[in-house]
Amino acid sequence: MNVNQSVPPVPSFGQPQPVYPGYHQSSYGGQSGSTAPTIPYGAYNGPVPGYQQTPPQGMSRAPPSSGAPPASTAQAPCGQAAYGQFGQGDVQNGPSSTVQMQRLPGSQPFGSPLAPVGNQPAVLQPYGPPPTSAQVTAQLSGMQISGAVAPAPPSSGLGYGPPTSLASASGSFPNSASGGPRLPSMTGPLLPGQSFGGPSVSQPNHVSSPPPQALPPGTQMTGPLGPLPPMHSPQQPGYQPQQNGSFGPARGPQPNYGSPYPAAPTFGSQSGPQPLPPKRLDPDAIPSPQLSELPPQQKTRHRIDPDAIPSPIQVIEDDRNNRGTEPFVTGVRGQVPPLVTTNFLVKDQGNASPRYIRCTSYNIPCTSDMAKQAQVPLAAVIKPLARLPPEEASPYVVDHGESGPLRCNRCKAYMCPFMQFIEGGRRFQCCFCSCINDVPPQYFQHLDHTGKRVDAYDRPELSLGSYEFLATVDYCKNNKFPSPPAFIFMIDVSYNAIRTGLVRLLCEELKSLLDFLPREGGAEESAIRVGFVTYNKVLHFYNVKSSLAQPQMMVVSDVADMFVPLLDGFLVNVNESRAVITSLLDQIPEMFADTRETETVFVPVIQAGMEALKAAECAGKLFLFHTSLPIAEAPGKLKNRDDRKLINTDKEKTLFQPQTGAYQTLAKECVAQGCCVDLFLFPNQYVDVATLSVVPQLTGGSVYKYACFQVENDQERFLSDLRRDVQKVVGFDAVMRVRTSTGIRAVDFFGAFYMSNTTDVELAGLDGDKTVTVEFKHDDRLNEESGALLQCALLYTSCAGQRRLRIHNLALNCCTQLADLYRNCETDTLINYMAKFAYRGVLNSPVKAVRDTLITQCAQILACYRKNCASPSSAGQLILPECMKLLPVYLNCVLKSDVLQPGAEITTDDRAYVRQLVTSMDVAETNVFFYPRLLPLTKSPIESTTEPPAVRASEERLSNGDMYLLENGLNLFLWVGASVQQGVVQSLFSVSSFSQITSGLSVLPVLDNPLSKKVRGLIDSLRAQRSRYMKLIVVKQEDKLEMLFKHFLVEDKSLSGGASYVDFLCHMHKEIRQLLS
Ligand SMILES: [Zn+2]
Repeated sequence: MNVNQSVPPVPSFGQPQPVYPGYHQSSYGGQSGSTAPTIPYGAYNGPVPGYQQTPPQGMSRAPPSSGAPPASTAQAPCGQAAYGQFGQGDVQNGPSSTVQMQRLPGSQPFGSPLAPVGNQPAVLQPYGPPPTSAQVTAQLSGMQISGAVAPAPPSSGLGYGPPTSLASASGSFPNSASGGPRLPSMTGPLLPGQSFGGPSVSQPNHVSSPPPQALPPGTQMTGPLGPLPPMHSPQQPGYQPQQNGSFGPARGPQPNYGSPYPAAPTFGSQSGPQPLPPKRLDPDAIPSPQLSELPPQQKTRHRIDPDAIPSPIQVIEDDRNNRGTEPFVTGVRGQVPPLVTTNFLVKDQGNASPRYIRCTSYNIPCTSDMAKQAQVPLAAVIKPLARLPPEEASPYVVDHGESGPLRCNRCKAYMCPFMQFIEGGRRFQCCFCSCINDVPPQYFQHLDHTGKRVDAYDRPELSLGSYEFLATVDYCKNNKFPSPPAFIFMIDVSYNAIRTGLVRLLCEELKSLLDFLPREGGAEESAIRVGFVTYNKVLHFYNVKSSLAQPQMMVVSDVADMFVPLLDGFLVNVNESRAVITSLLDQIPEMFADTRETETVFVPVIQAGMEALKAAECAGKLFLFHTSLPIAEAPGKLKNRDDRKLINTDKEKTLFQPQTGAYQTLAKECVAQGCCVDLFLFPNQYVDVATLSVVPQLTGGSVYKYACFQVENDQERFLSDLRRDVQKVVGFDAVMRVRTSTGIRAVDFFGAFYMSNTTDVELAGLDGDKTVTVEFKHDDRLNEESGALLQCALLYTSCAGQRRLRIHNLALNCCTQLADLYRNCETDTLINYMAKFAYRGVLNSPVKAVRDTLITQCAQILACYRKNCASPSSAGQLILPECMKLLPVYLNCVLKSDVLQPGAEITTDDRAYVRQLVTSMDVAETNVFFYPRLLPLTKSPIESTTEPPAVRASEERLSNGDMYLLENGLNLFLWVGASVQQGVVQSLFSVSSFSQITSGLSVLPVLDNPLSKKVRGLIDSLRAQRSRYMKLIVVKQEDKLEMLFKHFLVEDKSLSGGASYVDFLCHMHKEIRQLLS
C-alpha cells in the first residue's frame, strides 16, 4: 500500500492501539505537566464590585466620556508614507523634501536627488572619447560571470600589474567628478590573460561562453570579475590616474563609503550629505555585440555589465525549468529542494517537505572547526503548520490510543522512519541518542530480510517525514483535555476609530465573517466561541447570551486592576447567539457615534481578554483593533518617544525596544494562558509599534498596520486581511521542540514566540504563515555515514479543541570536504536566517555594527570557498559558489532594507513594523520581500495566461514604452512608462492619454478587453500568492510617486545610501581579497 496515495486522511493509519500498561508517557518533553501553570480561578459567580452595570435592558447610547474634545491628535495629518500603505493621503502629501526627479533615459541612479534634469546624456558625459569596441568587448567578457568553469587564468603578467581593487572600479571613490578625460576601459575588468593596453583584440568567444545554467550543479562558479588593471597604469600615461569609478555613476564624495578603500570602515553608513550629481558614461556610444542586442533603454551605463553578474531572474528561471516539472520526492537524505520560487509538488517518502522545513545547507560539516571556517550558518526555517497545495495531503493523524505516541525513553524523540528496529523487532535503537528501547507488545511487528518492519508502509510514523499523533491527556495542561478555543474581538471606539468609519465597517463585516470561523475537517460549525469588548479609556464588556433579547453592556473603568465582569454570556456560540450578536454589532457604531473620547488604553484591554480566557479555562485569540498611542492613565501607558535624531547613533536601538516592561510581563501571562493576540493598527501618527507589537510578537500573533486608514481607500485591504486572519487555521497553546541527532543541537531561535527555557518554543498561537528559524551548532563530531537528523515536534490544540502532536523529520548529509557544504547550500534560506539575525541584532547593537557583521560574515563565507574549494586562479577574480552566486545581491538588499538603512521617508513605526514582520517570514516571503518581483506587462503575448517572466529590479530594465507590476509581498505597484502606446492606456485605464492617468490610482477600471482582463487577473493572482493583501498603487513615469516605486528597484543605488548591486559586488570582492591576503 502506498501511503502517499488514496488513503483517507484521518484515521485509517495507526489503528488505535490497545493500551500498553507498562508504557506511560508522562508529558511532552518530559515536562508539560510542570510547565503549565495551575492557576486557581477566582470566583466570578456574582457581580464583582468595582464595575458599573448599565441597566439590564437596552443599552446606553452615550458611554462614559472623558469629555475631552477631539484633540489635535485626531486630525494629525498622515504626513509620512506608511509602509505598505501608500494611500491617497500619502500620495497627496508625498515624501517630504523631495526634489522633483525626472527620469533620464537609461540608467538613472537612484540616489541622485540633485540629478540634472533632462535628456542630455552628452552633458553628463565627462569622459573622453568613446572606447573602441575591442576594449569594451574585453571588459564585458572579463566580467562574464557566466564564464563557466573558468580555467585558472594566467595569474598575471600580460602587460599589467597585479589588480588593485574592484572597488576602484565600482565608482566609490571620492573626487570622481574631477577626473580628466579617461578611457573607460582603463579600470574595467579585463579578460584574464588579455593584454591591457596592448593591441585591441576582439574576444567574441568569451562573450558567448557557456551560460551559468549549463554548469552541472555544484560546479565551481568561477565567473571572473576580472583582474583589474592598476590604478596608475604605466601603459596609459596619457590618462589621469583613476581614483574613481570609471563605470557606472561616478560620484562625488561619498558619505556612504566614508573613506577610500581599503579601510572603508563606514561602508554602508549613511550620515552626511547626499551624493552629488552623478556623472556617467554614455553606453550608447559604446558599440558592443552584447549591448547592441539590448533595447536602447536597457543599455548599461556601467563599466561592469550588469548582464554579466549573477542574475536572480536567471537563477529563478533556470530552477523553474530544471526542477519545476518533476515532483520533489523526499526519500533521499540531504537533497536540496527546488527554490521557493519554483512551483513543484512534493512526495513525502520519509523526510519533511520543504514547505515545512528548509535548511541553509543540506550537507553539514562533520566538525565544528570546519563549520567555523566556512561561517555558513547552519539553520532550519520551520513552518510547522504550513498550508499545502490542494494536490498534497495534510499530515495523517495517528492515534495510538491511551498509550500515546511511542517515544525514546531517553531523549523523548518520537517514533520516526529513522528509528532502527533490532532483535527481530523487539527493540529499537533511537536514531537521535542511540538509546536501545523496548518495543511495546502492541507495537511489535516482524522485520523483513532487510531489517525493516513489514508494516513500515502502513504506518505514517515509520514511512513519512511528517505526520501527527493524537495526544493523550498527559500532554494537556493540568492533565485535562482542553476546551475549544475562543475568539474575542476588542474594538477601539475612541474618536479616531469612529471618525474614520472603521468601527462601522468592522461591525458590519463581523456579522458575516463570524460564519467563517475555522472548523476542523468536515465539522458543520466551528467549535470556537466568541466574545466582544469595546474600549477607549474604559472597557465595555457585552453579554450576548442567546436567551437575552438585547445585548447588555458592562463598563469597567478601573483599568488599573482589570477583571472580567461577567462570565456567563460573554463567550458564546455564534449560531446560538446570532440574533443578540447581530443586534450588538448594529448598535456599537450608533452608541459611540458622538464620542469625543480620544484617549485609549491598551494593556488593560489585552489583560481583560486574557483574564476572560483564563476564566473560561480555554486558549484563544484576541483580535485587537486599535488606533492610537495609549496615553490614558493605565498600566502600559506610553508617551511619544519617536526621535529620528537617534538614527545612526548608538541609541537607535532604543527605537526598536519596548518603552516599558509591562508589555513583556503581560505577554508572558498570555502565553501561559494560550492567549494569542492579533493586532490591527490604524494609526494617524506615531503609535509606538515597537512597544505595541510586543504582545503579538511573543504570543505568536500577527500585526497589521493601516496608516491613515480611510474606509474608501483602505477597506478592501483591511477586510481582505481580516477575513484571512479570522478564518485561518491556528494551533493554540503550542510548544515546539527541535531534537537533533548526536553531534549538533539547536542553540538559537528566531520568530514570534516566547521561550522560558533554552529548548521549548512556546506559542500561544501558531498559524500556517508563521515560521520559526532554528540555528544549530556542533557539540560533537558528526559522522558522514549516519548523517544528521532533525525532528521538530509541535504540541498544540486544534481549533476544535483536540490536543495533537505534529512531527516533522529531516535527515541531512554530513561532509568532511567543504566543497560538499558549498554544493548543497540554499541561499534563499541563508538570507532568511541572516535577515532575522540582523533584525534581532538591531535591538542591541547600532545598525551599522549589524550591517558590518553581515558583510564580514558574507565575505568570510565566500573567502573560505575561494580558498578551499575553487581551483587556483588569479586573485583578481571573484569566484562564487554556484549555490551562493546570489548571496551578494540578496545580502545587499537586506543591508539596505528599511530596518538597517532607513531612508528619509520611512517612519520609526514602519521600521518596527517591518522588523517584526520579517521575524516570522518564511523563505519565499523573505525572498520576494528583499528582492521584489518586477513583471513587464506588454512584452508577453496578450493571450498568454502564464505570469510574464520577471526582469531584474533595476531602473535600467524599465522600458518607457511598457508597463510593469512590482510586488514584494506587502506592496504592489503598477508603473506606467511615459511612452506607452495610447491604445494600451485606453485599454487599461479607459482614458485617452498617459497624462490623463490618475497617479496613485489603486483600482483599475473593469474593462472588457483582453489587456484589462489579463492585468487584473495577474494582480489577483499575485495577491492570492501572498499572506497579506497588497494594495495597488499606479505610478506614472516621472511622477513624484515614482520615488516610492524606485525604492524597490533594489539593484540600484538607494536614496538612503544603499549600494547598487554592482558596487556591492565590487566591495564584497574587495573584502574577500583582504581576507585571503
Ligand atoms: Zn533517544
